[in-house]
Amino acid sequence: MPSPVPTRIELARPVPPLTYLAPAGLAPGVRVQVRLRSGKAVGVVLGPDPAPPEVRLKPVDAVLDPFPLLPARLRDLLDFAARYYGCGLAHLLPLCLPSAVVPDWDTVLPDGRTLAQLREADDWGGLTALGEAWHAGTLDLPTLFHRRGGRGAGVMEVRLTGAPHPPRVTPSQAKVLRALEAAGGALLEGELLEACAVGAGVFATLEKHGVVSRTRRIDLLSQRRVEEPDRRVALNAEQVAAVEAVGLDAFGAHLLYGITGSGKTEVYLALAERVLARGRRVLWLVPEIGLTPRLLARLEARFPGQVAVGHAGLNATEKQADVVRLLQDGAPLFVGVRNAVLAPLRDVGLIVVDEEQEGSYKSEEHPRIHARDLAIKRAQLEGCPVVLGSATPSLESWQAAQAGRYKRIVLRQRPRGVTLPTVQVVDLRDAFKEARKRVVFAPRLLTALGETLARGEQAMLLLNRRGFENFWMCRACGRTFECPHCALSLTFHKGAWRLRCHLCGFETAPPEACIHCGAEHIRGVGEGTEQIEDQLRALFPAARILRLDRDTTSRRGSLEAGLLAAEAGEVDVLVGTQMLAKGHTFPRLTLVGILNADLGLKIADFRAAERTFQLLTQVAGRAGRAELPGRVILQTYSPDHPAIVHAVAQDFEAFAAEELPYREALGYPPYAAMSLYRSEGATPQEALDPLRALRASLERVPGLRILGPLEAPIAKVKDRYRFQLLLKAAGRGPLGEAMRAAPLLPGGPVSLDRDPLSFGV
Ligand code: ADP
Ligand code: ZN
Repeated sequence: MPSPVPTRIELARPVPPLTYLAPAGLAPGVRVQVRLRSGKAVGVVLGPDPAPPEVRLKPVDAVLDPFPLLPARLRDLLDFAARYYGCGLAHLLPLCLPSAVVPDWDTVLPDGRTLAQLREADDWGGLTALGEAWHAGTLDLPTLFHRRGGRGAGVMEVRLTGAPHPPRVTPSQAKVLRALEAAGGALLEGELLEACAVGAGVFATLEKHGVVSRTRRIDLLSQRRVEEPDRRVALNAEQVAAVEAVGLDAFGAHLLYGITGSGKTEVYLALAERVLARGRRVLWLVPEIGLTPRLLARLEARFPGQVAVGHAGLNATEKQADVVRLLQDGAPLFVGVRNAVLAPLRDVGLIVVDEEQEGSYKSEEHPRIHARDLAIKRAQLEGCPVVLGSATPSLESWQAAQAGRYKRIVLRQRPRGVTLPTVQVVDLRDAFKEARKRVVFAPRLLTALGETLARGEQAMLLLNRRGFENFWMCRACGRTFECPHCALSLTFHKGAWRLRCHLCGFETAPPEACIHCGAEHIRGVGEGTEQIEDQLRALFPAARILRLDRDTTSRRGSLEAGLLAAEAGEVDVLVGTQMLAKGHTFPRLTLVGILNADLGLKIADFRAAERTFQLLTQVAGRAGRAELPGRVILQTYSPDHPAIVHAVAQDFEAFAAEELPYREALGYPPYAAMSLYRSEGATPQEALDPLRALRASLERVPGLRILGPLEAPIAKVKDRYRFQLLLKAAGRGPLGEAMRAAPLLPGGPVSLDRDPLSFGV
């Protein structure tokens, strides 16, 4: 038996790869369990260590995978992402393979041996070859995940059939039946096992008695299920041309541009159908899965039993089940959010990125991947088309299409029965002069609200700021009340009667007098959605008002439930933050009021105008989507700002035409590439020093512009001081050079954000 060899193992921690003794011939990408001083950890094999440290090496505790579970092209994608984002493979692996997904070593091979027998014979070369055959589809291993994935590896839902209970039930059966009744008739198997502490055999017995039924549940999402029949439509000429424009046999990046409702989803569906018919698989990315119950229902209706769903909020069992389905090729269409771009799907024939401009595709924590960008890379590696869709594309994608790197496909036809809403601008400066005080609702908006309610139609009011008052200040000394742990003002929440920090969650009882000078002249500044709701209730006492912001939707499923209630006509006025902009059509929504269109423009970020334009256009587009004509009233202090002017005209192309030259002149993306290095420390010095050192080692890299280190826009969060160093270059090359010139520990004290989307936090 060959003796174990020094092997480099990478861990998902901020440490360089470590060397352990592992069986010779272990394939890179295989997961192993190792012991650290602090306990056990899962690591991933990088390969033999040619120059092992001269100490006594510890052996690995266990080899978890007989061969790498990820398809080869996905492994290539991870290699690329690790290099590009400056993180280890071990940091990316958990995004595509939950640690609970482990193959069963008792799996029997066609020759009668088990995987465990090959392991005992130390035949790692043989195991690696088996893995290759399995990935190539020439070796079927139906039981590879049986045990861990549960029976059939789906998520099973247990449901009361309504049949009378058997005359005698065991205590365990009684517990299960009670739990089901309490839950309204149905629960997931995992939830039941947890709630009742019974064995899974109980379900089978109850099923035999006909009291419950078990079905594989795919749509795990909405509290209130949405049923959608498969309404096949005949594609119009533009849609047919769009489908034809996407070549299925080779890589190609496409930007599908068309307003909401112009039929983009029908184009994706038609493409997906063709790809599935050829036996290849489809990866479909959406910005937020909770907001797309209708899409999921549409997919499930069109491709019954073929859809698996990745959901950021799923519990471990659910995630595990869907990933196992992918590994077993049980679901040729995978729809999911950001990390789904790394889903272990093999032979991908199409990637769809819906609402490609959405910021949620970019991770806000290490590793800071951008799913849209990785989707393009993945399509390249898979040799398949990728379709980015949007009504308000990111300027990056728009420019790439103009430069010919992406193929632009436009749907110009307005969907049947849909007219653009009329948009009226209220200049808040004039309103102030007339009223001689700050105006929250201009008279014109109030009149429109009254008329809308009188007609039994719906209204939506957007204010992108939650809480009651944005901050408190003292009229006597002029100072504001800040979070003791963060460099940010506290926001007043009236319902909870608390001042709260929106960054760290700190909260305190509102003081009666100024905490600085003791004067009793405190003033709340800047109304938020909570106050808008209050004022509306006073103005329209009979209206049914629903507020949707982070405060009212913290429970999983509550946002979806609220939106569905509004859709069902149970709400007259929706008040909320940018959450209102997405998903869902409200057939009776005819008035959209934007209370302060400028809020997003004040943020010191070169994308402020782009984000504001997108938000305003999306919200405005909510009005009047069905038979009823819509109306938008937009209140602003800066009616001449390009983002506002073009949002009023609902004209993305004009906005892009004005904004892009400005980006080019100032050297911002898409005409330049950026990397942001952040660091934090218990003192400003501690945060600053590593960035100064970093700057020094980057001075020699040609083609770099180095800005900073500077205080981060929010200079302190949770008692940690924050600084950042910004690198700009004409192309990506120098930024890659910078990573090689000053390598970082992945997940360490200085973190790298390539192509940063947010500069604030
Ligand atoms: P988008 O994805 O651009 O918002 P959808 O594809 O969801 O647009 O289409 C909006 C609505 O119009 C859907 O209800 C869809 O079924 C319908 N629709 C799209 N294309 C057609 C068509 N060619 N004929 C009839 N109805 C269509
Ligand atoms: Zn705080």
